Amino acid sequence: MAKHQFQTEIGQLLKLMTHSLYSNKEIFIRELVSNSSDAIDKFNHMRLTDEAFKNEDWSGQININLDEEDNSLTIADNGIGMNEEDLMNNLGTIAKSGTKAFVENLTGDAKKDSNLIGQFGVGFYSVFMVSDNVEVITKKAGEEQAYKFATDGTGEFEITPVTKEAHGTVMYIKLKEEEKEFLQKARVETIVKKYSNHIAYPIMMHYKAEETEGEGDDAVTKTVRKSEQVNAATALWALPKAELKKEDYLEFYKGLSHSDDEPLKYLHNKVEGAQEFTTLFYIPKIAPMDMNRADYSSHVKLYVKRVFITDDDKELLPTYLRFVMGIIDSEDLPLNVSREILQDNKILANIKQSSTKKILQAIKKLKGEDADIFTAQYNNLIKEGIYTDYINKDLLLDIVKYKSSTEEGMVTFADYTSRADSEKKEIYYIIGENEQVLRNSPLLEAYKKANIEVLLMDNKNEDTIVTPMIGEYGEWELKDITVIPAPDSKTEEEKEEISKEFKTLTEKIKEVLGETVKEVKITTRLTQSPSCVVKDASSPLAGMEEMFAQMGKTMPETPLILELNPDHEMVKKLDKLEKEAMFEDISWILFDSAKLAEGLEPKDKAAFSARIARVATEAL
Ligand code: ADP
Repeated sequence: MAKHQFQTEIGQLLKLMTHSLYSNKEIFIRELVSNSSDAIDKFNHMRLTDEAFKNEDWSGQININLDEEDNSLTIADNGIGMNEEDLMNNLGTIAKSGTKAFVENLTGDAKKDSNLIGQFGVGFYSVFMVSDNVEVITKKAGEEQAYKFATDGTGEFEITPVTKEAHGTVMYIKLKEEEKEFLQKARVETIVKKYSNHIAYPIMMHYKAEETEGEGDDAVTKTVRKSEQVNAATALWALPKAELKKEDYLEFYKGLSHSDDEPLKYLHNKVEGAQEFTTLFYIPKIAPMDMNRADYSSHVKLYVKRVFITDDDKELLPTYLRFVMGIIDSEDLPLNVSREILQDNKILANIKQSSTKKILQAIKKLKGEDADIFTAQYNNLIKEGIYTDYINKDLLLDIVKYKSSTEEGMVTFADYTSRADSEKKEIYYIIGENEQVLRNSPLLEAYKKANIEVLLMDNKNEDTIVTPMIGEYGEWELKDITVIPAPDSKTEEEKEEISKEFKTLTEKIKEVLGETVKEVKITTRLTQSPSCVVKDASSPLAGMEEMFAQMGKTMPETPLILELNPDHEMVKKLDKLEKEAMFEDISWILFDSAKLAEGLEPKDKAAFSARIARVATEAL
């Protein structure tokens, strides 16, 4: 007999389970049944791949026993089982960063939080919402020794060798006094139907019932034990679409997503022909919690002819679709398929291609509120797709959305081009740290004046890498407004004339700023601001942001060009100013405040504010 301490995080989790997350207790049944089903899946697969189990006469089954006298509920399966090491690793510790993330993500809203339990791979511990005396009696397939794992749900657990005939696991749960509802047949049956109806194995319930024999005075009421299958035990995705209703799909999703939520969209496809396979995919309304973690888990399960193969193959769909949940069931792969066969497998590659297209087409068709929800949750993953999935680039470009200088909400490239100049076929954009800075950027002034829409890309890290990759949308070319000349109505001669007029001024300012700027010149792109900065398009560094970002390095500063608005009072007056010191201060202010307007920082902040103070004092 060996006593062990739970890992610290588990201790924390157990406290949470018993003291906070009690509003939706019924889910412990969903979690334990799901674990049993997984264990049966694993053994089923073993039977097909491992000679040692080939001839075993076996069919997967889950048994739920309600025992009123003992005040206990047991959930038993004939799956793969666990040995001592498995018990330590699977129930005594949490290998994944899951629990930590789980605890971090708790919202305080118990109903929501209990929905997170299943997502984080901590389902087993939900049993402590209803019990403080749990025994796991289990024997691993192919091994001799069985073990009992026992705990009272506080800091410790105990593992003891025991005897058990067949492989599989029995979860013995002594219910707390106030949890007797989970001994009622009708109650438990409702829960099983709600979450586990389409678990592919029969779930048998064993319970006590009253039975009356005879009639009238001879009637004798006896208490008997009855058994009944309570789930449909069908692989839902294998049923013909015509037989399935929306409710069936939503119910199945509850089991799959370990939640009560409705999906944003589901798509069920049977493909027949040279290759045969069935897919059932769901797009969740809320992104899976681990979507942006490096150790995210796959939410797509692979089956071959209804037999579970794996839920741990991240290659089934492209990485950027890692929010999709569902099932792929192939008719062509061998049942005894191994991990090695799965890698670089032609059949799977084909399924992946076709599934990706189907999913993207479905996303493209989303409308109104659904489309908005999708964009809010997954727009960044679509950008990731644009960067990584060249084959589906066109589809992805029809889905991705951006903020716009002229429109509310988010717009697609198709929206943009439907409004823009169809002769020029140019899509203007600007990338920056945040929406506010972009909206107020002086570089937009000329576009506002000319009534030209500009896409505001405010996800700097990602957009800097992805947007140059886009290059074109159909016949339309994407143009970064920080490097191209702004639209205006003046002729080249007129512009030259103005530049000449201000030649002395621009030369003098360049002298003050020295090497800090590449050039100082007059511009026609401004209407309100006195100055702006643009990137030097001829610099060898221009357009290298992508490369630097990819290497995880910050870009050396691209040389900037300071541009002045010749119609602005500040510029006009500066041209006439004779005080040397003040001229210098104002030159720097023109440059530094133009940088600020683009979300860039003045190199010397202290000097910047000292200059403002000097100039303001003078002005007063
Ligand atoms: P999850 O199921 O999400 O991984 P759990 O906390 O529910 O998280 O379970 C932890 C692990 O314990 C499982 O991944 C599995 O390896 C093991 N386990 C739980 N229940 C069983 C069972 N009935 N049979 C075999 N293994 C089980």
